[in-house]
Amino acid sequence: MSAIIDGRPVVPGGGSLRPLGIGEVEITGGFWGDRQVVNSSATIAHCHDWMERLGWVGNFRAAKEGRLPQDRNGVVFTDSDVYKLMEAAAWESGRSDSKDAEARFVDLAQIIASVQESDGYLNTVFGRPGQPGRYTDLEWGHELYCYGHMLQAAVARARSGTTDLFVEVARRAADHVCETFGRGGIERVGGHPEIELGLVELARLTGEERYLNQAALFVDRRGHHTLADIHRGRSYFQDDVPLRRQEAFTGHAVRALYLAAGAVDVAVETEDEALLETIIEQWEHTVARRTYLTGGMGSHHDGERFGDDFVLPPDRAYSETCAGIASVMLSWRLLLATGESRFADLAERTLYNVVATSPAPDGRSFFYANPLHQRVPGAVPSPDAVSNRASSSLREPWFAVSCCPTNVARTFASLGAYLATVDREGLQLHQYANSRITTSLDDGRRVGVEVTTAYPNDGRISIRVTETGDGPWSLTLRIPEWAAGTWLIDQGTRRSVGPGNASLERSFAVGDQIELELPMAPRWTVPDPRIDSIRGCVAVEQGPLVLCVESVDLPEGRDVGSVRVDSGQALEVKGDMVVANGRLVDVDDQRWPYSDSGGVSTSIDSPVHMVPYYRWATRGPATMRVWIPTDGSAADR
Ligand SMILES: [Zn+2]
Repeated sequence: MSAIIDGRPVVPGGGSLRPLGIGEVEITGGFWGDRQVVNSSATIAHCHDWMERLGWVGNFRAAKEGRLPQDRNGVVFTDSDVYKLMEAAAWESGRSDSKDAEARFVDLAQIIASVQESDGYLNTVFGRPGQPGRYTDLEWGHELYCYGHMLQAAVARARSGTTDLFVEVARRAADHVCETFGRGGIERVGGHPEIELGLVELARLTGEERYLNQAALFVDRRGHHTLADIHRGRSYFQDDVPLRRQEAFTGHAVRALYLAAGAVDVAVETEDEALLETIIEQWEHTVARRTYLTGGMGSHHDGERFGDDFVLPPDRAYSETCAGIASVMLSWRLLLATGESRFADLAERTLYNVVATSPAPDGRSFFYANPLHQRVPGAVPSPDAVSNRASSSLREPWFAVSCCPTNVARTFASLGAYLATVDREGLQLHQYANSRITTSLDDGRRVGVEVTTAYPNDGRISIRVTETGDGPWSLTLRIPEWAAGTWLIDQGTRRSVGPGNASLERSFAVGDQIELELPMAPRWTVPDPRIDSIRGCVAVEQGPLVLCVESVDLPEGRDVGSVRVDSGQALEVKGDMVVANGRLVDVDDQRWPYSDSGGVSTSIDSPVHMVPYYRWATRGPATMRVWIPTDGSAADR
């Protein structure tokens, strides 16, 4: 690890906790380490290859050579995918010193820098002869959205240790945005939030306050009908009601969550307690009533949007991968602001069950939508085909709208920065991964720990102190909300700790061992009865993982629709599966599927095997379900 790398996507000027970056937290293996290796060795190149092949990188070359608009390829916001790839490459270069990632970043930066206009404007869709004028389509044009990702990529570059050309490009673009959209300029917002996040972080990086002020303007301007009343309504892009007056996240899920994350950044920098409190209340409402068991958000395919409270149908779950990533970004910011473990709890749930579900084990195909029930086995996509549909039934190599793969890539490359923090008292571990953590406390003392674990396949987490200054400090460990009955073993003393933050405050010595034993027995989970679409069903969870039934584990010819489980009986672990007692039911076809009896059915007793949801569809086409109808007592209410 390089000592000079800051390596943090988010560096708040205030709040409860100070994040540690990829220069201080090295993931060394295990569940997340494996994914970082695949991301580095396959996904980043895969994304880059597709964007070359489809001409999305070529759009910048065409701009340089005066071949636009005739040679423009892809949807209106493909520039943003190139920026997200650059962000991934920047973190990867900083994290692993990857020469491959470094070369990709530098090449792309050179092409892009060469097409920036003298006033800082940079976009491949607007402003040239034959193209629509700049900012003539704020509803759908995505210019500000693209800048947001450009700014985040530049911040990643600078915080990975290199302040070069691209950081200057981003500054010029940000200056241009402030000049164009400041007071007295175009007093409107863009249809897709994201610029807010980029501007605040660039302000934090450079100390340039006008970027922060512009982000605050964008946050408060939204909701005042500066965008047109489109067919989906202004709620689609959160322009119907000012953010401060919303009760829950609504509209397009990724838009809503990026906006909320940017608003937290603004609130923290401007010490706007009321705004922070509003976002926390919206988060609480959304988590309590609009979130899938997986942590997934957004239940409507139409408009990729949040449904009303308790509209969470498993088979129609949209749960876009990007919405999961945006939710992790928001939770991380709220954790830093408050220090409250509930935000890390949701981040963990979402990372394991949405973000980790998206990429195939080889890192070369992806889920865009993440439904909790697949009724029809999917068709194996061609490795050469671009999917025009987000709701594909198996992981696809690429999409016409390909926001998700590059979002996964940048998240995995920077994942080390989401594990640990420090505050005045000591070091906090929020997510458990094989890792080496070394940092300085606020008083300058050096501390370090090494975390070793097979989590989430095993609940034992060993933490060895590798560095410590004199005198006491506190080591705080997050106990997940599902982990009642966790044991904490310190210097031979064993004590039970409840969910929340468990702190050890004492003088440590190098070599001290602290162990956590999280209860990993599989457990039945019963939904709130107001979620009508899964009433009478149960799910199984194990540690942070949501499990599912897949048809490949059923007798030949059987479909997951025939499965019933007895939730009154205990679950058993067999190898890497969990087994429940249950039945397989045959229902006779009827001419009309409604009657006084519900139809005739027969059944046979059968064990029901379950696997982690993140692994589903890695063994070929299958039907799958998370929520299973029960014969037992747990869901009878
Ligand atoms: Zn996406």
